[in-house]
Amino acid sequence: MVILWFFLAHWFICLFFQTFFHHRYASHKMFTMNKFWERFFHLSTYFAQGSSYLTPSSYAIMHRMHHAFSDTEKDPHSPNFFKDVFGMMMHTKRIFHGLANKTIEVSPKFLGNYPTWDWLDRFGYGWPSRIFWMVSYTVFYAFFATEWWMYLLLPVHFMMGPVHGAIVN
Ligand SMILES: [Zn+2]
Repeated sequence: MVILWFFLAHWFICLFFQTFFHHRYASHKMFTMNKFWERFFHLSTYFAQGSSYLTPSSYAIMHRMHHAFSDTEKDPHSPNFFKDVFGMMMHTKRIFHGLANKTIEVSPKFLGNYPTWDWLDRFGYGWPSRIFWMVSYTVFYAFFATEWWMYLLLPVHFMMGPVHGAIVN
């Protein structure tokens, strides 16, 4: 029981922060908030996404490109150019990495006007943080899982951010 509640809670909290912070705030600036609340929600987003933290600025750039190039081959994740969701997610992941590590060039029209927090974005996107969260979820399961199949939910926790990304799109 505890595990199922934990799973549902994590699922909905991640969905909320991705919709609210990544999509509406970072990508589309549908509303404004002052620096305090922006930091507050940025940090909350990190805690919610944990092992699958998506840098909000990279998410915003990618999402703006997605809207601008919708269903052309420059769209970072157009369903029309991939046979399956998995291929599309791998492609999206490559672009996202490039954006997060600043190794791909982006037209200036997609840049700016999104929340950035240098050390948190770098730390949250790095492996030490990801591994810490994955170990934490696993320890939680080790304490509370009552059935073997519950462990099958763990990979979903690990990948929560990208999973929602794929569903939202
Ligand atoms: Zn959008």
